[in-house]
Amino acid sequence: MLTPNMHYADLKDSYLFAGISQKLSEYLEAHPGTHLYRMGIGDVSLPLCAEVIKALHEAVNDQASKENFHGYMPECGAPFLREKIALFYAGRGVRLSSDEVFISSGASDELGDILDLFDKSSSALVIEPAYPAYVDASVIAGRRIVRLASGKENGFLPAPDDGIEADILYICSPNNPTGAVFNREQLQAWVDYANRHGSVILFDAAYEAFIEEEGIPHSIFELEGARTCAIEICSLSKTAGFTGTRLGYTVIPKELERCGMNFNSMWVRNRTTKTNGVSYIIQKGGAAVFTPQGQRQIRENIQVYKKNAKILMEALDSIGIWYTGGKNAPYIWLKCPDGMGSWEFFDLLLNSIQVVGTPGEGFGVCGEGYFRFSTFGSPEDTKEAARRLLRLLGQK
Ligand code: PLP
Repeated sequence: MLTPNMHYADLKDSYLFAGISQKLSEYLEAHPGTHLYRMGIGDVSLPLCAEVIKALHEAVNDQASKENFHGYMPECGAPFLREKIALFYAGRGVRLSSDEVFISSGASDELGDILDLFDKSSSALVIEPAYPAYVDASVIAGRRIVRLASGKENGFLPAPDDGIEADILYICSPNNPTGAVFNREQLQAWVDYANRHGSVILFDAAYEAFIEEEGIPHSIFELEGARTCAIEICSLSKTAGFTGTRLGYTVIPKELERCGMNFNSMWVRNRTTKTNGVSYIIQKGGAAVFTPQGQRQIRENIQVYKKNAKILMEALDSIGIWYTGGKNAPYIWLKCPDGMGSWEFFDLLLNSIQVVGTPGEGFGVCGEGYFRFSTFGSPEDTKEAARRLLRLLGQK
């Protein structure tokens, strides 16, 4: 009799988003037609920029002509896009060769697939509160999970401790859900830890484009020693609005080796076995992101989300609520007022001012008592949500 992957039985139900949507449908059933101010969404609300749309149209036309038609694409990515991304890194002072850049269908796909590179016995460190896919992908792969709780006392940016024993280290900066971002010294400490212990960092850089402060690393490869201990997983989802179009990239340096095995070569072997590449049309659209006009246009969109963050941060400042994030990330992570629990605060906001956020407890036990606002909503809704928050919590 076939044995299924029994680790699926170890997965916890994704009660967070299911719980939220159930509460929202109950509320709307009781209050039909009410407008909800959705500050919980992790999806972008602005369309793709003009430069990307133009490139997508041109690529569709290419597919209609015998001379320019493209069939299967190279499994690891089209050279035109891998080269553009390597040049983009060079502009930041990070030298990569284009065959260290692998084109993907997005960070979620890669975060799961990349685990193929490690033996089943290797453990995974997850810094909580965390993006739920880290735990779930590791559970499905049957790995031991080492949880490292973070909190207000360390700004949700814990330092490594040589007592921690883990092989794979998930680090997400700027972080979802906390919006916290590691500075150079803090990240260097993790790189040094990984090199000392022979661990490999899976650096999730999905929100790097939101960093605005000088001196904060956008890429782990800005740090000394990272080429021997890190893989960087990137996405155009939030950077350029590709959540529905699907495109990302992963950087695996050629120096990354353990037990005589080279991770870059292993990933080439993995990709050539498990995928036939990302579509030509989408990669053409992605290449437009890395042109000067594309960069200018995506920055304009990011500025809209950043203005939303500013509005929410100003409201929280004037109420006197503690929070992190918002400045270098599209998420604001706040302490629920008056010692309220995450779900209690969720109910209060929904029922009294129709504002919807995400209860922190859904991102790990240490998220209890915290709450996440996303800044991807519309400016109009964000302004009104901030006004309502001030009205509800401002006059004490
Ligand atoms: N990593 C983090 C931290 C995220 O928040 C998300 C999406 O919300 C992803 C990865 C997935 O990105 P993609 O759309 O590229 O799959």
